[in-house]
Amino acid sequence: MGGMTAEAIAALKQNLPSAHFVTPDLTEEYGSLNNSYLSGFESDLTPACIFLPKSKEQVAVFLRTIRPFADNVQFAIRAAGRQPLPGCANVQGGITVDLRSLTGIRLRDGIVKVSAGESWGAVYQYLEPHGLGVTGGKSTTCGIGGLSTQGGLSFFSSRESFICDNVVNFEVVVASGEILNANAQENPDLWISLRGGGNNLGIITRFDFSTFKQESMYAGMVFYFKPSWRDQMTALVKELMSPEASVETHLMLSIGYAQVFGNGNDVICLNQIYYTQPVKDPAVLAPFVHVQPQRSEMNSMKIQTLLEAATEQSGAGQSKIRCLYMNVCVKADVDTLATGGDIWCEELEPVKDAAGLMCSYTIQPYPISQLQKTSANGGNVLGLDPSEGPVLNLLLLSYWADKKDDDRVTGFMQKALKRIESNAKDRGQLVPFIYWNYAFSDQDALRSYGQENVQKLQAASKKYDPDGLFQTACPGGFKLFK
Ligand SMILES: Cc1cc2nc3c(=O)[nH]c(=O)nc-3n(C[C@H](O)[C@H](O)[C@H](O)COP(=O)(O)OP(=O)(O)OC[C@H]3O[C@@H](n4cnc5c(N)ncnc54)[C@H](O)[C@@H]3O)c2cc1C
Repeated sequence: MGGMTAEAIAALKQNLPSAHFVTPDLTEEYGSLNNSYLSGFESDLTPACIFLPKSKEQVAVFLRTIRPFADNVQFAIRAAGRQPLPGCANVQGGITVDLRSLTGIRLRDGIVKVSAGESWGAVYQYLEPHGLGVTGGKSTTCGIGGLSTQGGLSFFSSRESFICDNVVNFEVVVASGEILNANAQENPDLWISLRGGGNNLGIITRFDFSTFKQESMYAGMVFYFKPSWRDQMTALVKELMSPEASVETHLMLSIGYAQVFGNGNDVICLNQIYYTQPVKDPAVLAPFVHVQPQRSEMNSMKIQTLLEAATEQSGAGQSKIRCLYMNVCVKADVDTLATGGDIWCEELEPVKDAAGLMCSYTIQPYPISQLQKTSANGGNVLGLDPSEGPVLNLLLLSYWADKKDDDRVTGFMQKALKRIESNAKDRGQLVPFIYWNYAFSDQDALRSYGQENVQKLQAASKKYDPDGLFQTACPGGFKLFK
Protein backbone atom coordinates (compact mmCIF):
# COMPACT_ATOMS: atom_id res chain seq x y z
CA MET A 1 0.00 0.00 0.00
CA GLY A 2 1.31 3.50 -0.89
CA GLY A 3 2.25 5.79 2.02
CA MET A 4 -0.41 8.34 1.11
CA THR A 5 -3.09 5.65 0.95
CA ALA A 6 -2.11 4.46 4.43
CA GLU A 7 -2.32 8.06 5.64
CA ALA A 8 -5.72 8.53 4.00
CA ILE A 9 -7.06 5.34 5.60
CA ALA A 10 -5.75 6.46 9.00
CA ALA A 11 -7.50 9.82 8.55
CA LEU A 12 -10.73 8.09 7.53
CA LYS A 13 -10.57 5.80 10.56
CA GLN A 14 -10.24 8.84 12.80
CA ASN A 15 -13.40 10.40 11.38
CA LEU A 16 -15.54 7.30 10.87
CA PRO A 17 -16.16 4.04 12.81
CA SER A 18 -13.14 1.83 12.14
CA ALA A 19 -15.39 -1.25 12.02
CA HIS A 20 -16.65 0.03 8.64
CA PHE A 21 -13.21 -0.48 7.06
CA VAL A 22 -12.19 -3.90 5.85
CA THR A 23 -8.49 -4.37 5.05
CA PRO A 24 -6.76 -7.42 3.52
CA ASP A 25 -5.55 -8.63 6.96
CA LEU A 26 -9.21 -9.38 7.77
CA THR A 27 -8.79 -12.23 5.32
CA GLU A 28 -12.20 -13.85 5.42
CA GLU A 29 -14.32 -10.70 5.34
CA TYR A 30 -12.10 -8.98 2.77
CA GLY A 31 -12.12 -12.10 0.56
CA SER A 32 -15.85 -12.51 0.70
CA LEU A 33 -16.47 -8.84 -0.19
CA ASN A 34 -13.85 -8.63 -2.92
CA ASN A 35 -14.84 -11.93 -4.51
CA SER A 36 -18.51 -11.02 -4.72
CA TYR A 37 -18.30 -9.11 -8.02
CA LEU A 38 -19.92 -10.80 -10.99
CA SER A 39 -16.71 -10.58 -12.95
CA GLY A 40 -13.33 -11.98 -12.02
CA PHE A 41 -11.84 -8.96 -13.83
CA GLU A 42 -13.17 -6.85 -10.94
CA SER A 43 -12.17 -9.32 -8.21
CA ASP A 44 -8.63 -9.49 -9.67
CA LEU A 45 -8.17 -5.95 -8.34
CA THR A 46 -7.24 -5.74 -4.68
CA PRO A 47 -8.08 -2.47 -2.95
CA ALA A 48 -6.06 -1.44 0.11
CA CYS A 49 -9.33 -1.09 1.95
CA ILE A 50 -13.08 -1.56 1.49
CA PHE A 51 -15.26 1.07 3.17
CA LEU A 52 -18.85 0.13 4.05
CA PRO A 53 -20.78 3.33 4.85
CA LYS A 54 -24.03 2.96 6.75
CA SER A 55 -25.50 6.41 6.06
CA LYS A 56 -25.35 9.29 3.64
CA GLU A 57 -23.63 11.34 6.35
CA GLN A 58 -20.81 8.78 6.45
CA VAL A 59 -20.48 9.01 2.66
CA ALA A 60 -20.18 12.79 3.10
CA VAL A 61 -17.45 12.41 5.75
CA PHE A 62 -15.63 9.99 3.45
CA LEU A 63 -15.55 12.50 0.58
CA ARG A 64 -14.54 15.40 2.80
CA THR A 65 -11.71 13.36 4.32
CA ILE A 66 -10.42 11.95 1.06
CA ARG A 67 -10.33 15.28 -0.80
CA PRO A 68 -6.92 16.46 0.43
CA PHE A 69 -5.44 13.15 -0.75
CA ALA A 70 -7.07 13.26 -4.19
CA ASP A 71 -3.83 13.60 -6.16
CA ASN A 72 -2.36 10.44 -4.67
CA VAL A 73 -5.19 8.19 -3.53
CA GLN A 74 -7.90 6.60 -5.65
CA PHE A 75 -11.33 5.32 -4.76
CA ALA A 76 -14.07 3.32 -6.48
CA ILE A 77 -17.84 3.29 -5.98
CA ARG A 78 -19.51 -0.10 -5.91
CA ALA A 79 -23.21 -1.04 -5.86
CA ALA A 80 -24.00 -4.71 -6.63
CA GLY A 81 -20.83 -5.15 -8.65
CA ARG A 82 -22.72 -6.60 -11.62
CA GLN A 83 -21.05 -4.56 -14.35
CA PRO A 84 -18.24 -6.54 -15.97
CA LEU A 85 -16.31 -3.47 -17.17
CA PRO A 86 -12.86 -3.99 -15.58
CA GLY A 87 -12.09 -1.44 -12.86
CA CYS A 88 -15.45 0.32 -13.00
CA ALA A 89 -16.38 -0.48 -9.40
CA ASN A 90 -13.11 -1.61 -7.81
CA VAL A 91 -9.63 -0.11 -7.63
CA GLN A 92 -6.15 -1.58 -7.31
CA GLY A 93 -4.44 -0.33 -4.14
CA GLY A 94 -7.11 2.28 -3.45
CA ILE A 95 -10.30 2.46 -1.39
CA THR A 96 -13.51 0.84 -2.59
CA VAL A 97 -16.69 2.40 -1.26
CA ASP A 98 -19.09 -0.55 -1.12
CA LEU A 99 -22.65 0.74 -0.78
CA ARG A 100 -24.31 -2.54 0.28
CA SER A 101 -25.04 -1.35 3.84
CA LEU A 102 -27.08 1.62 2.62
CA THR A 103 -30.43 -0.12 2.78
CA GLY A 104 -34.05 0.93 2.97
CA ILE A 105 -37.07 1.14 0.67
CA ARG A 106 -40.03 3.45 1.27
CA LEU A 107 -43.14 4.23 -0.73
CA ARG A 108 -44.71 7.69 -0.54
CA ASP A 109 -47.25 9.28 -2.87
CA GLY A 110 -46.49 6.80 -5.65
CA ILE A 111 -42.73 7.40 -5.44
CA VAL A 112 -40.50 4.57 -4.26
CA LYS A 113 -37.37 5.77 -2.46
CA VAL A 114 -34.61 3.22 -2.73
CA SER A 115 -31.28 3.37 -0.89
CA ALA A 116 -28.21 2.71 -3.03
CA GLY A 117 -27.34 -0.67 -1.51
CA GLU A 118 -30.63 -2.34 -2.43
CA SER A 119 -31.26 -4.73 -5.32
CA TRP A 120 -34.04 -4.71 -7.87
CA GLY A 121 -35.32 -7.99 -6.43
CA ALA A 122 -35.88 -6.30 -3.05
CA VAL A 123 -37.67 -3.37 -4.72
CA TYR A 124 -40.01 -5.66 -6.71
CA GLN A 125 -40.78 -7.69 -3.59
CA TYR A 126 -41.57 -4.51 -1.65
CA LEU A 127 -43.87 -3.14 -4.37
CA GLU A 128 -45.75 -6.37 -5.12
CA PRO A 129 -48.30 -6.18 -2.26
CA HIS A 130 -49.08 -2.59 -3.35
CA GLY A 131 -49.86 -3.78 -6.90
CA LEU A 132 -47.13 -1.50 -8.22
CA GLY A 133 -44.18 -1.83 -10.57
CA VAL A 134 -41.15 0.27 -11.42
CA THR A 135 -38.69 0.43 -14.31
CA GLY A 136 -35.82 -1.61 -12.95
CA GLY A 137 -33.33 -4.28 -13.95
CA LYS A 138 -34.51 -7.44 -15.64
CA SER A 139 -32.60 -9.40 -13.03
CA THR A 140 -33.23 -9.43 -9.28
CA THR A 141 -29.52 -9.41 -8.46
CA CYS A 142 -28.61 -6.28 -10.41
CA GLY A 143 -27.65 -3.18 -8.48
CA ILE A 144 -29.63 0.01 -8.56
CA GLY A 145 -26.65 2.32 -9.08
CA GLY A 146 -25.16 1.26 -12.41
CA LEU A 147 -28.50 0.90 -14.17
CA SER A 148 -29.99 4.16 -12.89
CA THR A 149 -27.01 6.34 -13.84
CA GLN A 150 -25.94 4.73 -17.14
CA GLY A 151 -29.26 4.32 -18.98
CA GLY A 152 -30.83 1.05 -17.89
CA LEU A 153 -33.17 -1.19 -19.84
CA SER A 154 -36.20 -2.70 -18.14
CA PHE A 155 -39.15 -4.90 -19.14
CA PHE A 156 -41.12 -1.64 -19.37
CA SER A 157 -38.69 0.36 -21.48
CA SER A 158 -40.93 0.47 -24.59
CA ARG A 159 -43.59 2.24 -22.54
CA GLU A 160 -41.63 4.02 -19.79
CA SER A 161 -38.19 4.54 -21.40
CA PHE A 162 -34.78 4.06 -19.77
CA ILE A 163 -34.51 3.35 -16.06
CA CYS A 164 -32.56 6.61 -15.50
CA ASP A 165 -35.48 8.52 -17.06
CA ASN A 166 -37.72 7.32 -14.26
CA VAL A 167 -35.55 8.65 -11.43
CA VAL A 168 -37.51 11.66 -10.21
CA ASN A 169 -34.94 12.54 -7.57
CA PHE A 170 -31.33 11.57 -6.87
CA GLU A 171 -30.04 12.08 -3.33
CA VAL A 172 -26.37 12.63 -4.05
CA VAL A 173 -23.26 13.46 -2.06
CA VAL A 174 -21.11 15.76 -4.18
CA ALA A 175 -17.34 16.28 -3.92
CA SER A 176 -17.59 18.96 -1.20
CA GLY A 177 -19.42 16.48 1.02
CA GLU A 178 -22.67 18.40 0.63
CA ILE A 179 -25.78 16.21 0.38
CA LEU A 180 -27.98 17.44 -2.45
CA ASN A 181 -31.28 16.48 -3.98
CA ALA A 182 -31.36 16.60 -7.76
CA ASN A 183 -34.81 16.73 -9.34
CA ALA A 184 -36.92 18.86 -11.69
CA GLN A 185 -37.04 21.73 -9.16
CA GLU A 186 -33.77 21.46 -7.22
CA ASN A 187 -30.46 21.30 -9.09
CA PRO A 188 -32.16 20.30 -12.37
CA ASP A 189 -28.87 20.42 -14.32
CA LEU A 190 -27.45 17.80 -11.96
CA TRP A 191 -30.66 15.74 -12.23
CA ILE A 192 -30.44 15.53 -16.03
CA SER A 193 -26.67 14.96 -15.95
CA LEU A 194 -27.03 12.03 -13.57
CA ARG A 195 -29.37 10.42 -16.11
CA GLY A 196 -26.46 8.96 -18.05
CA GLY A 197 -23.43 10.56 -16.37
CA GLY A 198 -22.47 7.48 -14.33
CA ASN A 199 -20.17 8.02 -11.37
CA ASN A 200 -18.77 11.35 -12.64
CA LEU A 201 -20.70 13.75 -10.41
CA GLY A 202 -21.06 12.27 -6.95
CA ILE A 203 -22.02 9.25 -4.90
CA ILE A 204 -25.75 8.71 -5.09
CA THR A 205 -27.13 7.46 -1.82
CA ARG A 206 -30.83 7.20 -2.73
CA PHE A 207 -32.83 6.91 -5.94
CA ASP A 208 -36.50 7.96 -6.03
CA PHE A 209 -38.49 6.34 -8.85
CA SER A 210 -41.97 6.90 -10.14
CA THR A 211 -44.12 3.76 -9.95
CA PHE A 212 -47.11 2.51 -11.92
CA LYS A 213 -49.91 0.00 -11.45
CA GLN A 214 -48.55 -3.41 -12.33
CA GLU A 215 -50.27 -6.77 -12.44
CA SER A 216 -48.58 -9.93 -13.66
CA MET A 217 -47.03 -10.15 -17.10
CA TYR A 218 -46.62 -12.77 -19.82
CA ALA A 219 -42.93 -13.60 -19.81
CA GLY A 220 -40.34 -16.26 -20.48
CA MET A 221 -37.86 -17.83 -22.86
CA VAL A 222 -38.13 -19.75 -26.12
CA PHE A 223 -35.18 -21.76 -27.47
CA TYR A 224 -35.01 -22.65 -31.18
CA PHE A 225 -32.58 -23.36 -33.99
CA LYS A 226 -30.44 -21.30 -36.33
CA PRO A 227 -32.44 -21.84 -39.55
CA SER A 228 -35.30 -19.76 -38.04
CA TRP A 229 -33.05 -16.95 -36.82
CA ARG A 230 -33.35 -14.67 -39.84
CA ASP A 231 -37.18 -14.88 -39.84
CA GLN A 232 -37.16 -13.83 -36.20
CA MET A 233 -35.15 -10.71 -37.02
CA THR A 234 -37.51 -9.96 -39.87
CA ALA A 235 -40.47 -10.22 -37.48
CA LEU A 236 -38.70 -7.99 -34.97
CA VAL A 237 -37.92 -5.28 -37.50
CA LYS A 238 -41.51 -5.45 -38.82
CA GLU A 239 -42.89 -4.97 -35.31
CA LEU A 240 -40.50 -2.10 -34.50
CA MET A 241 -41.29 -0.26 -37.74
CA SER A 242 -45.06 -0.67 -37.40
CA PRO A 243 -46.95 2.55 -36.57
CA GLU A 244 -48.97 0.37 -34.16
CA ALA A 245 -45.92 -1.14 -32.45
CA SER A 246 -46.95 -2.33 -29.00
CA VAL A 247 -45.55 -0.39 -26.04
CA GLU A 248 -46.11 -3.42 -23.80
CA THR A 249 -43.49 -5.67 -25.40
CA HIS A 250 -39.84 -6.08 -24.57
CA LEU A 251 -37.93 -8.52 -26.76
CA MET A 252 -34.38 -9.82 -26.75
CA LEU A 253 -33.25 -12.08 -29.57
CA SER A 254 -30.02 -14.01 -29.10
CA ILE A 255 -27.84 -16.47 -30.88
CA GLY A 256 -25.61 -18.23 -28.41
CA TYR A 257 -23.26 -21.05 -27.67
CA ALA A 258 -22.74 -23.19 -24.57
CA GLN A 259 -22.29 -26.87 -23.90
CA VAL A 260 -25.04 -26.63 -21.27
CA PHE A 261 -27.58 -25.92 -24.03
CA GLY A 262 -27.12 -29.59 -24.98
CA ASN A 263 -26.96 -28.62 -28.63
CA GLY A 264 -23.69 -30.35 -29.47
CA ASN A 265 -21.18 -28.06 -31.12
CA ASP A 266 -23.91 -25.90 -32.65
CA VAL A 267 -25.19 -22.50 -31.71
CA ILE A 268 -28.76 -22.17 -30.46
CA CYS A 269 -31.18 -19.27 -30.60
CA LEU A 270 -33.11 -17.74 -27.73
CA ASN A 271 -35.98 -15.27 -27.55
CA GLN A 272 -36.51 -13.58 -24.19
CA ILE A 273 -40.04 -12.33 -24.45
CA TYR A 274 -42.06 -9.96 -22.26
CA TYR A 275 -45.55 -8.58 -22.55
CA THR A 276 -46.08 -6.36 -19.55
CA GLN A 277 -49.82 -7.08 -19.11
CA PRO A 278 -51.46 -10.23 -17.73
CA VAL A 279 -52.47 -11.43 -21.19
CA LYS A 280 -51.56 -14.99 -22.16
CA ASP A 281 -50.15 -15.39 -25.65
CA PRO A 282 -51.01 -11.98 -27.15
CA ALA A 283 -51.09 -11.88 -30.97
CA VAL A 284 -48.19 -9.41 -31.18
CA LEU A 285 -45.86 -12.01 -29.67
CA ALA A 286 -47.02 -14.97 -31.80
CA PRO A 287 -44.06 -14.95 -34.25
CA PHE A 288 -41.60 -15.05 -31.36
CA VAL A 289 -43.42 -17.46 -29.04
CA HIS A 290 -44.51 -19.99 -31.66
CA VAL A 291 -41.36 -20.20 -33.76
CA GLN A 292 -40.99 -23.80 -35.03
CA PRO A 293 -39.22 -26.06 -34.52
CA GLN A 294 -38.30 -25.13 -30.95
CA ARG A 295 -36.92 -26.83 -27.84
CA SER A 296 -40.42 -27.03 -26.40
CA GLU A 297 -39.22 -28.70 -23.19
CA MET A 298 -37.30 -25.45 -22.48
CA ASN A 299 -40.16 -23.07 -23.34
CA SER A 300 -40.88 -21.11 -20.13
CA MET A 301 -43.57 -18.68 -21.37
CA LYS A 302 -46.18 -18.08 -18.68
CA ILE A 303 -47.97 -15.44 -16.67
CA GLN A 304 -45.48 -14.30 -14.02
CA THR A 305 -45.13 -11.53 -11.49
CA LEU A 306 -42.44 -8.90 -12.03
CA LEU A 307 -40.41 -10.53 -9.28
CA GLU A 308 -40.72 -13.98 -10.86
CA ALA A 309 -39.77 -12.73 -14.31
CA ALA A 310 -36.69 -10.96 -12.91
CA THR A 311 -35.75 -14.03 -10.87
CA GLU A 312 -35.77 -16.13 -14.06
CA GLN A 313 -33.18 -13.72 -15.53
CA SER A 314 -30.91 -13.45 -12.54
CA GLY A 315 -28.43 -16.19 -13.44
CA ALA A 316 -28.31 -17.45 -9.84
CA GLY A 317 -26.24 -14.45 -8.71
CA GLN A 318 -22.93 -15.80 -10.02
CA SER A 319 -19.68 -14.28 -8.86
CA LYS A 320 -16.03 -14.15 -9.83
CA ILE A 321 -16.45 -15.67 -13.26
CA ARG A 322 -14.45 -14.52 -16.27
CA CYS A 323 -16.94 -12.30 -18.02
CA LEU A 324 -16.99 -9.41 -20.49
CA TYR A 325 -19.59 -7.37 -22.36
CA MET A 326 -19.16 -5.25 -25.51
CA ASN A 327 -21.80 -3.55 -27.66
CA VAL A 328 -22.65 -1.54 -30.72
CA CYS A 329 -25.91 0.02 -31.95
CA VAL A 330 -27.48 -0.18 -35.41
CA LYS A 331 -30.66 0.79 -37.22
CA ALA A 332 -33.56 -1.58 -37.82
CA ASP A 333 -32.20 -3.40 -40.86
CA VAL A 334 -32.54 -7.18 -41.17
CA ASP A 335 -29.42 -7.69 -43.31
CA THR A 336 -27.26 -5.76 -40.84
CA LEU A 337 -28.60 -7.77 -37.91
CA ALA A 338 -28.29 -11.10 -39.72
CA THR A 339 -24.79 -10.45 -41.06
CA GLY A 340 -23.76 -9.35 -37.56
CA GLY A 341 -24.90 -12.76 -36.28
CA ASP A 342 -23.03 -14.57 -39.06
CA ILE A 343 -19.82 -12.67 -38.29
CA TRP A 344 -20.18 -13.51 -34.61
CA CYS A 345 -20.65 -17.23 -35.40
CA GLU A 346 -17.59 -17.25 -37.68
CA GLU A 347 -15.32 -15.57 -35.13
CA LEU A 348 -16.59 -17.88 -32.39
CA GLU A 349 -15.36 -21.09 -34.07
CA PRO A 350 -11.71 -21.05 -32.88
CA VAL A 351 -12.58 -20.33 -29.21
CA LYS A 352 -15.42 -22.83 -28.76
CA ASP A 353 -13.08 -25.05 -26.73
CA ALA A 354 -12.48 -22.37 -24.04
CA ALA A 355 -13.40 -24.02 -20.74
CA GLY A 356 -16.95 -23.21 -19.61
CA LEU A 357 -17.56 -20.83 -22.50
CA MET A 358 -21.07 -19.44 -22.67
CA CYS A 359 -21.52 -16.55 -25.04
CA SER A 360 -24.08 -14.76 -27.15
CA TYR A 361 -24.91 -12.10 -29.71
CA THR A 362 -28.05 -10.42 -28.39
CA ILE A 363 -30.31 -7.91 -30.10
CA GLN A 364 -32.13 -5.53 -27.75
CA PRO A 365 -34.32 -2.88 -29.36
CA TYR A 366 -34.93 0.67 -28.21
CA PRO A 367 -38.32 1.24 -29.91
CA ILE A 368 -39.35 4.71 -31.04
CA SER A 369 -41.84 4.88 -28.15
CA GLN A 370 -38.95 4.43 -25.70
CA LEU A 371 -36.90 7.23 -27.25
CA GLN A 372 -39.93 9.52 -27.34
CA LYS A 373 -40.73 8.96 -23.68
CA THR A 374 -37.31 10.28 -22.61
CA SER A 375 -38.23 13.90 -23.24
CA ALA A 376 -41.71 13.45 -21.74
CA ASN A 377 -39.91 12.28 -18.59
CA GLY A 378 -37.68 15.37 -18.47
CA GLY A 379 -34.72 14.30 -20.63
CA ASN A 380 -31.33 12.68 -20.20
CA VAL A 381 -27.81 13.05 -21.61
CA LEU A 382 -27.71 9.83 -23.67
CA GLY A 383 -28.18 11.73 -26.93
CA LEU A 384 -30.61 9.33 -28.61
CA ASP A 385 -33.03 11.02 -30.99
CA PRO A 386 -36.45 9.42 -31.67
CA SER A 387 -36.45 10.87 -35.18
CA GLU A 388 -33.65 8.44 -36.06
CA GLY A 389 -36.12 5.61 -35.65
CA PRO A 390 -35.77 2.49 -33.55
CA VAL A 391 -32.24 1.67 -32.42
CA LEU A 392 -31.06 -1.90 -31.93
CA ASN A 393 -28.37 -2.61 -29.41
CA LEU A 394 -26.13 -5.55 -30.25
CA LEU A 395 -24.60 -7.00 -27.11
CA LEU A 396 -21.68 -9.42 -27.27
CA LEU A 397 -21.44 -11.26 -23.99
CA SER A 398 -19.06 -14.02 -22.90
CA TYR A 399 -18.66 -15.97 -19.68
CA TRP A 400 -15.84 -18.48 -19.29
CA ALA A 401 -14.11 -20.38 -16.52
CA ASP A 402 -10.38 -19.98 -16.78
CA LYS A 403 -8.10 -16.95 -16.70
CA LYS A 404 -5.78 -18.62 -19.18
CA ASP A 405 -8.43 -18.07 -21.88
CA ASP A 406 -8.79 -14.32 -21.16
CA ASP A 407 -6.82 -13.15 -24.19
CA ARG A 408 -8.41 -15.60 -26.61
CA VAL A 409 -11.99 -14.83 -25.63
CA THR A 410 -11.41 -11.08 -25.40
CA GLY A 411 -9.73 -11.23 -28.81
CA PHE A 412 -12.67 -13.10 -30.32
CA MET A 413 -15.13 -10.55 -28.99
CA GLN A 414 -13.09 -7.55 -30.11
CA LYS A 415 -12.56 -8.97 -33.58
CA ALA A 416 -16.24 -9.83 -33.98
CA LEU A 417 -17.31 -6.42 -32.70
CA LYS A 418 -14.99 -4.59 -35.07
CA ARG A 419 -16.30 -6.54 -38.05
CA ILE A 420 -19.96 -6.11 -36.99
CA GLU A 421 -19.38 -2.40 -36.57
CA SER A 422 -17.73 -1.94 -39.96
CA ASN A 423 -20.41 -4.08 -41.65
CA ALA A 424 -23.07 -1.77 -40.18
CA LYS A 425 -21.08 1.31 -41.17
CA ASP A 426 -20.62 0.09 -44.75
CA ARG A 427 -24.38 -0.41 -45.01
CA GLY A 428 -25.08 3.07 -43.58
CA GLN A 429 -26.81 1.44 -40.59
CA LEU A 430 -24.40 2.24 -37.74
CA VAL A 431 -25.75 4.30 -34.82
CA PRO A 432 -22.86 5.96 -32.92
CA PHE A 433 -24.39 5.34 -29.47
CA ILE A 434 -22.54 2.90 -27.18
CA TYR A 435 -24.49 1.60 -24.20
CA TRP A 436 -22.40 2.21 -21.06
CA ASN A 437 -23.81 -0.74 -19.10
CA TYR A 438 -22.49 -3.16 -21.74
CA ALA A 439 -19.34 -1.30 -22.79
CA PHE A 440 -15.77 -2.61 -22.70
CA SER A 441 -12.79 -0.49 -21.62
CA ASP A 442 -11.92 0.68 -25.14
CA GLN A 443 -15.49 1.77 -25.92
CA ASP A 444 -15.91 5.36 -24.77
CA ALA A 445 -19.62 5.30 -24.03
CA LEU A 446 -19.63 8.87 -22.72
CA ARG A 447 -18.30 10.40 -25.93
CA SER A 448 -20.93 8.47 -27.89
CA TYR A 449 -23.58 10.76 -26.30
CA GLY A 450 -22.40 13.53 -28.65
CA GLN A 451 -20.50 16.75 -28.06
CA GLU A 452 -23.44 18.77 -26.77
CA ASN A 453 -24.21 16.26 -24.04
CA VAL A 454 -20.57 15.83 -23.09
CA GLN A 455 -20.33 19.62 -22.71
CA LYS A 456 -23.47 19.62 -20.57
CA LEU A 457 -21.86 16.99 -18.35
CA GLN A 458 -18.57 18.87 -18.21
CA ALA A 459 -20.41 22.03 -17.14
CA ALA A 460 -22.16 20.09 -14.37
CA SER A 461 -18.83 18.63 -13.28
CA LYS A 462 -17.22 22.11 -13.08
CA LYS A 463 -20.15 23.38 -11.05
CA TYR A 464 -20.64 20.47 -8.61
CA ASP A 465 -17.04 19.17 -8.52
CA PRO A 466 -14.83 22.18 -9.31
CA ASP A 467 -11.61 20.41 -8.27
CA GLY A 468 -12.45 17.36 -10.37
CA LEU A 469 -12.38 14.85 -7.49
CA PHE A 470 -14.50 12.34 -9.44
CA GLN A 471 -12.31 12.81 -12.51
CA THR A 472 -8.90 12.19 -10.94
CA ALA A 473 -9.47 10.18 -7.76
CA CYS A 474 -12.33 7.97 -9.00
CA PRO A 475 -10.96 6.51 -12.25
CA GLY A 476 -13.55 3.75 -12.85
CA GLY A 477 -15.90 3.88 -15.83
CA PHE A 478 -15.68 6.63 -18.45
CA LYS A 479 -14.46 10.11 -17.51
CA LEU A 480 -15.46 13.55 -18.73
CA PHE A 481 -12.11 15.25 -19.27
CA LYS A 482 -9.16 13.57 -20.94
C1 LIG B 1 -27.57 -11.02 -14.70
C2 LIG B 1 -27.48 -9.63 -15.27
C3 LIG B 1 -28.63 -8.98 -15.68
C4 LIG B 1 -28.58 -7.70 -16.22
N1 LIG B 1 -29.74 -7.10 -16.58
C5 LIG B 1 -29.70 -5.85 -17.10
C6 LIG B 1 -30.92 -5.20 -17.45
O1 LIG B 1 -32.00 -5.69 -17.24
N2 LIG B 1 -30.86 -3.99 -18.04
C7 LIG B 1 -29.66 -3.39 -18.29
O2 LIG B 1 -29.68 -2.30 -18.83
N3 LIG B 1 -28.50 -3.97 -17.92
C8 LIG B 1 -28.49 -5.18 -17.34
N4 LIG B 1 -27.32 -5.77 -16.96
C9 LIG B 1 -26.10 -4.99 -17.00
C10 LIG B 1 -25.78 -4.45 -15.58
O3 LIG B 1 -26.93 -4.25 -14.91
C11 LIG B 1 -25.03 -3.17 -15.59
O4 LIG B 1 -23.77 -3.42 -16.08
C12 LIG B 1 -25.07 -2.35 -14.29
O5 LIG B 1 -24.17 -1.29 -14.40
C13 LIG B 1 -24.76 -3.09 -13.02
O6 LIG B 1 -25.17 -2.29 -11.94
P1 LIG B 1 -24.55 -2.38 -10.48
O7 LIG B 1 -25.29 -1.37 -9.69
O8 LIG B 1 -24.48 -3.76 -10.03
O9 LIG B 1 -23.14 -1.77 -10.77
P2 LIG B 1 -21.65 -1.88 -10.22
O10 LIG B 1 -20.92 -2.90 -11.01
O11 LIG B 1 -21.57 -1.95 -8.74
O12 LIG B 1 -21.23 -0.42 -10.71
C14 LIG B 1 -21.34 -0.04 -12.05
C15 LIG B 1 -20.91 1.43 -12.21
O13 LIG B 1 -21.86 2.28 -11.60
C16 LIG B 1 -21.24 3.14 -10.64
N5 LIG B 1 -22.16 3.28 -9.50
C17 LIG B 1 -22.88 2.29 -8.93
N6 LIG B 1 -23.64 2.79 -7.93
C18 LIG B 1 -23.36 4.11 -7.87
C19 LIG B 1 -23.82 5.16 -7.01
N7 LIG B 1 -24.72 4.93 -6.06
N8 LIG B 1 -23.32 6.41 -7.20
C20 LIG B 1 -22.42 6.65 -8.19
N9 LIG B 1 -21.96 5.68 -9.02
C21 LIG B 1 -22.42 4.43 -8.86
C22 LIG B 1 -19.95 2.41 -10.26
O14 LIG B 1 -18.96 3.29 -9.79
C23 LIG B 1 -19.56 1.73 -11.56
O15 LIG B 1 -18.81 2.58 -12.37
C24 LIG B 1 -27.33 -7.04 -16.39
C25 LIG B 1 -26.17 -7.69 -15.96
C26 LIG B 1 -26.24 -8.97 -15.41
C27 LIG B 1 -24.98 -9.63 -14.97
